[in-house]
Amino acid sequence: MSLSIFVIAACGLLGLLFGSFANVLVHRLPRGESIVFPGSRCPHCAHSIAWYDNIPVFSWLWLRGRCRHCDAGIAWRYPLMEAGLGAMWAGLAWHFSLSPELGLALTLSFLLWVLSWIDLETGYLLDVLTFPGIATGLLFAALFGDIHASLIGAVAGYAVFWLVARLFLLVTGREGMGQGDFKLLAMLGAFLGWQALPFVIFLSSFVGAVIGSIYLLLTRNSMRAEIPYGPYLAAAGLIWLVWGEPLLEWFTVSSRGLVQ
Ligand SMILES: [Zn+2]
Repeated sequence: MSLSIFVIAACGLLGLLFGSFANVLVHRLPRGESIVFPGSRCPHCAHSIAWYDNIPVFSWLWLRGRCRHCDAGIAWRYPLMEAGLGAMWAGLAWHFSLSPELGLALTLSFLLWVLSWIDLETGYLLDVLTFPGIATGLLFAALFGDIHASLIGAVAGYAVFWLVARLFLLVTGREGMGQGDFKLLAMLGAFLGWQALPFVIFLSSFVGAVIGSIYLLLTRNSMRAEIPYGPYLAAAGLIWLVWGEPLLEWFTVSSRGLVQ
């Protein structure tokens, strides 16, 4: 077995395990519960879950999505989150192979994964994730990358959204974005450098607007729907992480072509 296949398989398996940990974080962080104690419990009957019933994806399939003790259904979100992160980590390992960039990619994708699911469920992007995320992004840049681009990215990410929110409030009298969004963009700036920010802002707001309009059309909801923006920021950040360099090159070349 060649090294790269081994790395991809190992990251895929680790992704399943971290996906399982992500489930714990998504469930417990918004409730302010400890993420270590107690061990995994059935949310319905509170019976503790044995290790053999807690194997990512497989246990859910084996138990046909039901608790062994009380027979309550276990949401399909659990195996989906495990399989999703496993697939994402395997894909990132394939793309980056064994390198510091892979470490950065796995760390960032895990944080974005947990942040997005919590944002979808509660509408909050938690400081307990974004603040350590900003620090970790700066640390990666200090060790392996461009600390200046990372610092500027963190500060500019926060400042740009803060400014947009102030203007929005001034013009419409409504709160448009949450403070969590400022911090998430600061985190993306810290991990990816300031160069990523224009693309991330453009893509996330464009896709967010399209999906938001479709949602409004389908539901015919006359009330202003609260659609969390975090998952769009996260997705745009991941796209930049993987395809940022070719995108930047393509943009530079085509804009040069326009000027000539
Ligand atoms: Zn149960």
